[in-house]
Amino acid sequence: MIIQLIEEISTTQKEHIVHKVESLGYQLSEVTTQKGHYLIAVGKKDFDIRSVGRLDGVKDIHWVSDGYKLVSKKWKVGKTAIDLGDGIQIGDGSLAMMAGPCSIESEAQIKSTIQHLLENNIRIMRGGVYKPRSSPYAFRGLGIDGLKMWYELAKANGLKIITEVMQVSQIDAMLPYVDVFQVGARNMQNFNLLDALGAVDKPVMIKRAMSGTIDELLQCAEYVFSGGNEKIILCERGIRTYEKAYRNTFDLNAIPILKEKTHLPVVADPSHGIGLRDYVEDMALASIMAGADGVIYETHQTPEKAFSDGQQTLNFEESANLINKMKLTSNLRASF
Ligand code: PEP
Ligand code: MN
Repeated sequence: MIIQLIEEISTTQKEHIVHKVESLGYQLSEVTTQKGHYLIAVGKKDFDIRSVGRLDGVKDIHWVSDGYKLVSKKWKVGKTAIDLGDGIQIGDGSLAMMAGPCSIESEAQIKSTIQHLLENNIRIMRGGVYKPRSSPYAFRGLGIDGLKMWYELAKANGLKIITEVMQVSQIDAMLPYVDVFQVGARNMQNFNLLDALGAVDKPVMIKRAMSGTIDELLQCAEYVFSGGNEKIILCERGIRTYEKAYRNTFDLNAIPILKEKTHLPVVADPSHGIGLRDYVEDMALASIMAGADGVIYETHQTPEKAFSDGQQTLNFEESANLINKMKLTSNLRASF
């Protein structure tokens, strides 16, 4: 059960609500975010929620019995849009496009990517400065200095930055230079990281873990929300199955199902989803038809020279073609 409290609730009013709900055998957790003040009540006993709903200080009350609550559509029916500032939104009904290299590699690479993005009117640039790599000997990113260099160039060109944070200790140093914190698939259930990102007032995009169920992904989003941060985006990036013909099994089914279950924006990552450059375009367009609010993909001036994930990275010509086709597909979908 979710009880939303009025903003100017008094201590006495709150104590009264808490006492009433606890006396019904429910355990309460208090959640305060940028946008609201809630009591989350967990328990089994059936009762008429109007007996709590009419108490002074209650703004709204709703039963949500799933493990995730505040991110559920059962609580909030309308879509949530994430505002990155300067007129850039994710989940506002338009298609959000985010592109850039797998890894940030050099000043020259950042500059060439920015030029490509500006030419194609893409305003959110992706790239990793902390890279989770299967081998410890592979390139692991330029770290905070790379992020600072990228930030200066991105800011000067009006671009927003989405980049992966791998551990709690990196958050503070990254904070001024990041527009969206990405939680990578390998960290989806790093609950300490999710808790810490709940305390930050910056959007967080959570990627689905390779073995993560939709329900688990939603519960991870609930960690961030209940930690105090409502600015969350979910990302389908493929799961690991027995199939070996491609890198991951891009679970397009997850897109409409997530959109049925949550009010949060859902974006798709076809680059990691299929892992093969030749088919990234088809899967990107398919994800738009499936209802994705946005697409995030990898592009590089010379993918064959990329420090990571070159095999799934589009060159700038392929990327420009994809952008045009994504716009057409998005219009087509909107016309249905
Ligand atoms: C990435 O976006 O480059 C990345 C490492 O993604 P994932 O966490 O989905 O593997
Ligand atoms: Mn990658």
